[in-house]
Amino acid sequence: MSRKSLRVLDKKLRYLAEHADFHININSVIGGGIKQPEDALAVAQRATELGFSTTVGVIHDNDGTLKPLTEKEKEIFHAVKKLGNKDHARLNWFQDSIAEGKPYEWRCRSGSRYLYICEEGKVHWCSQQRGYPGTPLADYTMEDFKREYKTEKWCAPTCTIQCVHQVGILDNWRDPQMSEGELRKEKARQDKERLGQALRAD
Ligand code: SF4
Repeated sequence: MSRKSLRVLDKKLRYLAEHADFHININSVIGGGIKQPEDALAVAQRATELGFSTTVGVIHDNDGTLKPLTEKEKEIFHAVKKLGNKDHARLNWFQDSIAEGKPYEWRCRSGSRYLYICEEGKVHWCSQQRGYPGTPLADYTMEDFKREYKTEKWCAPTCTIQCVHQVGILDNWRDPQMSEGELRKEKARQDKERLGQALRAD
């Protein structure tokens, strides 16, 4: 949400603050060439005035690459983080590395813990990685879930997609992943072994 859209939405947000029976979190974004980074702070300040929780997300550039935040953006990033929801912040420590433009080591479990389903009903790793695997949802089986759980995502070190980091947080300590090539070899080895067992049983 930008400051401009905040002006338009302010009345609706006040209604929500007065009447909503559910929790509301406002997420501001910074980076990615956004022209007025100070908007993120204005939005977060208004959110806390209205009693909402706030979070801040670092986003990648239009071309998907990760660039360190400028000094001004970093200042705003830390100011918004201070205002923010401590519970959410605890789940977002990867963003400190991303803000510095440094790679972050983690295991992305998209295609398994997290599915991105496009307007054509196909499953993709996420909004940034459409086409992987690009399988129609109706044909997506447990085999696909298992394969994607184990597949190492080449884009993980510079990934800024907060929700995928959060849903897979406990998986960082589980089951190491393999590249797609290694997984194919592993599957071929298992198929060969199964075939061997079946022939021996005959
Ligand atoms: S690492 Fe990030 S960009 Fe890559 S597939 Fe996972 S969520 Fe998408």
